[in-house]
Amino acid sequence: MKRLLFPAIILALLFQSCEKTAQLSYEPFTGELRHAFGISTNTRTTTPIVLTRITLGDKTGYGEAALPPYLKETQESVCAFLQLAEPVINSCTEPLNVDSIMQVVNALAPGNHAAKASIDIALHDLYGKLLGKPLWQLWGIDPNATPCTSYTIGYDACDSIVLLKVREADWAKILKVKLGRGEAEDKRMISLIRSISDKPIYVDANQGWPTKEHALMMCQWLVEQGVVMIEQPMPKHMNEEHAWLCEQVELPILADEACQTYDDVARLAPYYDGINIKLMKCGGLAEARKMITLARELGMQVMIGCMTETRAGISAATTLSPLVDYADLDGHVLIANDPYDGIQIVDGKLTLVNKPGTGVSPL
Ligand code: MG
Repeated sequence: MKRLLFPAIILALLFQSCEKTAQLSYEPFTGELRHAFGISTNTRTTTPIVLTRITLGDKTGYGEAALPPYLKETQESVCAFLQLAEPVINSCTEPLNVDSIMQVVNALAPGNHAAKASIDIALHDLYGKLLGKPLWQLWGIDPNATPCTSYTIGYDACDSIVLLKVREADWAKILKVKLGRGEAEDKRMISLIRSISDKPIYVDANQGWPTKEHALMMCQWLVEQGVVMIEQPMPKHMNEEHAWLCEQVELPILADEACQTYDDVARLAPYYDGINIKLMKCGGLAEARKMITLARELGMQVMIGCMTETRAGISAATTLSPLVDYADLDGHVLIANDPYDGIQIVDGKLTLVNKPGTGVSPL
């Protein structure tokens, strides 16, 4: 017996020392916006991002944390969280159990949703790459059912820049327009766009309409302008006012700033027609999938959106796009220095690629 045990221990030790473990790396990155990006409350020309990579053997998964000011996460807070998560990721081996790894990562600290998303996205990409299959295939998602993405026209005080943005978006089948700067400016933006384009428009007021009466007046005018959906008309705490607005207008009203994570979905069901899910708000693909399932059970419409992101985040979100009603996944088009290749937009339609993982690779 002893004679058999000894070689077995040696073999086990040898196997352990050869077993590959994962390696997390990350770096701050500044996304340069093609145009100044204006919403109801601010205008910016760059966007802070943290790029993550998780390598196991000769395969690397790519993720990112994209950080718009309203999320309150910074490159510093994301890097601090990733440092905390490093021992967890660096002890991972094959086969990769993404759900159980994310359970440990999510329990490290509350909040930090974009930081958690950056790990979740890289892990899912790596998971697919290790198995040599696209994530959409592993999840049984129909790649032909991807929707068209809208293209976002940010607020701009200058007429010619608004018109230039619309002309540049000639590939897009749907426009999304940022409003919420007051009645006169909102109507100027829409009228300008309508002077050269008759495409369907989604409107995002980013909480910019102060009262339900103002929101109703704007919705009634916008319907006449061919607007087909409205995102977050009023401040996120005004639930009853949103429920009232949904009853008054035919237009679908979706929660964005009001809906951050899984816990918000059932809470908001009585007040909105639907929700806008973003990986950076909810903590990644696993959470987003759960939110889509619950929203469907509650009869809610679903949009999948993004921040100004690289193709690492956009390719991940596009994997889920066949499961939703509306997609606003143009983040990588809004930045000029995307370091990644990945999903494509063909004739306005999101197009999943037949490559392992989320389909992302460095350019
Ligand atoms: Mg929005």
